[in-house]
Amino acid sequence: MHPTASAALPSLRLRSVVGVFLALLFGAAGLSAQDVRCVIHVSVDGLRPDSITALPPTSLPNFQRLRLQGAGTDNARCDFDYSITLPNHTTQLTGRPIVGPAGHNWASNIDPALGHTLATNKGSYVAGVFDVAHDHGLRTAAYVSKTKFALFPTSWDHVNAAPDAVAPDNGRNKIDLYRYEGNTATLVAQLAADQRAQPAAYVFLHLTDLDSVGHAHGWDTTPGSAYSNALLAIDNRLGVLFRLVDDTPALAGQTAIVLTADHGGFGTNHGDAALALDYTVPFYVWGPGATGGADLYALNPTTRLNPGTNRPGHDAAPQPIRNGEAANVSLKLLGLGPIPGSTIGAAQDLAIGPE
Ligand SMILES: [Zn+2]
Repeated sequence: MHPTASAALPSLRLRSVVGVFLALLFGAAGLSAQDVRCVIHVSVDGLRPDSITALPPTSLPNFQRLRLQGAGTDNARCDFDYSITLPNHTTQLTGRPIVGPAGHNWASNIDPALGHTLATNKGSYVAGVFDVAHDHGLRTAAYVSKTKFALFPTSWDHVNAAPDAVAPDNGRNKIDLYRYEGNTATLVAQLAADQRAQPAAYVFLHLTDLDSVGHAHGWDTTPGSAYSNALLAIDNRLGVLFRLVDDTPALAGQTAIVLTADHGGFGTNHGDAALALDYTVPFYVWGPGATGGADLYALNPTTRLNPGTNRPGHDAAPQPIRNGEAANVSLKLLGLGPIPGSTIGAAQDLAIGPE
């Protein structure tokens, strides 16, 4: 064996071990949230966080990476009044609860009727995360796996969206690229291809699989169940996202992933908003500035309160971490202010690491 090569091997191996160790501790080591150029906001429909911990971590390498390199909690909350899909995604994208004067008021969970928008339903314009990113000149994209999400491109298109609030005028249409595809393997492959060709700064991704399987076979977190097996497929989808980030120079070290869920589930449904298994959702933030393995409640001892098994209202102080924080957390990572009219996480004070 060549002496130089044999001498170099242990040192290389040591460096890579140290690198992995640092990456596990600090996420993307040495990088801060100011380095983020792209946020991928993932909503895993019907994801119960206890289904992740029911499996050995080695079965879910990509969830494992998200949890070890990112900051997170398995005890976030969905909306107080509703634990159903379209209203909670509207909450995720607008930073508003569902009911009340501050709410977005979209309580329906079916395909929107022709001409119906968030604004026609509420009686006033409802801005979303796409508004802020687009108005500041950033490219936006949405990848969804249920047809009812048509509510969003309709509400925020070139006719129904508000005028661009920040010069230069980039037009009204807030979502530059919108794709619907029911097969999430195809959907995520499309996302990766699009991001390699022309990266969007804010990307929303909805993955339907766990919800479909939960309704058909039950929210059974036992390893080997249909639901648990669908979680393995979701882990593969996350793997495609990680490969995209790792392999794309314009994204590596500059991309954050914010992952949450609209609701959990029990039996074959999730419609009881008072049920802990329905209202408990995960909330993870991975990327530059995130402290690896940190608990978000521990990082935010004065501004957020771990609700235990309770269901705090939207007026509780401090608030629990909610899926509705995803939009304003994403915007903060991109260096942008909160969504006008938003109330959930509107102070943009959720720490994901030392600031
Ligand atoms: Zn459902």
